[in-house]
Amino acid sequence: MTEQTATSQFATTISSDTRFADLDLDLSLMKGIEALGFESCSPIQAKILPYTLEGHDAIGKAQTGTGKTAAFLITLFNDLLANPVEGERYLAEPRAVVIAPTRELVMQIAEDARHLGRFTGLSTVTLIGGMDYAKQLQKVNQRPTDIVVATPGRLIDFLQRGDIQLDRVESLVLDEADRMLDMGFIPQVKRIVRTTPRKEDRQTLLFSATFSYDIMNLAKQWTFDPITVEIEPERVATETVDQRVYLLESRDRLSVLQNILNSPEAKSVIVFANRRDHVRKVYERLQKKGIECGILSGEVTQAKRTKTLEHFKSGKIRVLVATDVAGRGIHVDGVSHVVNYDLPEDPEDYVHRIGRTGRAGTTGISISFASEDNAFLLPDIEALLGLPLKCTQVPEGLINS
Ligand code: AMP
Repeated sequence: MTEQTATSQFATTISSDTRFADLDLDLSLMKGIEALGFESCSPIQAKILPYTLEGHDAIGKAQTGTGKTAAFLITLFNDLLANPVEGERYLAEPRAVVIAPTRELVMQIAEDARHLGRFTGLSTVTLIGGMDYAKQLQKVNQRPTDIVVATPGRLIDFLQRGDIQLDRVESLVLDEADRMLDMGFIPQVKRIVRTTPRKEDRQTLLFSATFSYDIMNLAKQWTFDPITVEIEPERVATETVDQRVYLLESRDRLSVLQNILNSPEAKSVIVFANRRDHVRKVYERLQKKGIECGILSGEVTQAKRTKTLEHFKSGKIRVLVATDVAGRGIHVDGVSHVVNYDLPEDPEDYVHRIGRTGRAGTTGISISFASEDNAFLLPDIEALLGLPLKCTQVPEGLINS
């Protein structure tokens, strides 16, 4: 990946010129970063890493998709590698703990940790509620654990049974603190934090999508002289996106999509569908019709996704078919159209999707297909946007008679 593409992927409010190679990171960690194809830091990484790599605490206001996970994982890994434990290591005494509110998030963080830390020799264990306790305990007792990634409830279970000790923790990460607050986890998190060393004796990193009074209060209690970094969330892109909704029968969607893609204005198009299998189906059908496209979904390996994204950015492929999760990583300027082959079930996803176009001062077009089985999703989207969407029949020329 060239510097330009890696930077533009994260061109949210500020682009970053900081390269990982300039951060003086441990070489085994650097190898993992390179293998993932990361070259330049995302804005939050560029802002936070110079401080956290020096051992300072940090409070970050950032949402998913900003690269915050890598920001804290790189901090943890680098610190653990730079300060190896002298003398004997004990089982069930992790050196770093990451707490996140949901099972999905914990698994995602652990997966990112496995990728980033591939060449470091550091071990990561996940402790998640609703899954086999004995198996997780076995992992903890297999070899000294470096990093524990956990949901609050399950970590409390481990602490209460004496199956884990946190008194040697060097780094503590609290991810999505606002969601932990909403979900009522703060009493549990407080108990966990109390079992770790004093805040002056550990590094604490706290991330939250919002900075409410309560969150700032907790952040103050848990961190020591922190730096605060804010990355602005994406705004509802109503001004720069011409949003169209076509009413059609669902069996007509493929031919209308094909006609849209064949029009000369469709220079660079992202097609969103709701599920991986839908994405694959659309992709295969388009390929069959001779339209070259790329696929971005959880079914595809990260390396392949990175390559596909590169080809899309360079213009080698004109069409991408994506799921919402995979689509969040797409920060490409110059996307002319976004097509919602399926209407998203979560209105927030609609905003994310259409925000892939109309970026960097340009205007874009979003076309959503509404049919008999999903038009009921429109009112919630309109409520979030705060304006009605104009639904029309498919223009002549785009529908095969
Ligand atoms: P997150 O905000 O942690 O959910 O990360 C969003 C996505 O960006 C993940 O798929 C990461 O693998 C990817 N990512 C994180 N940092 C970088 C970077 N510096 N360059 C390219 N991709 C990145």
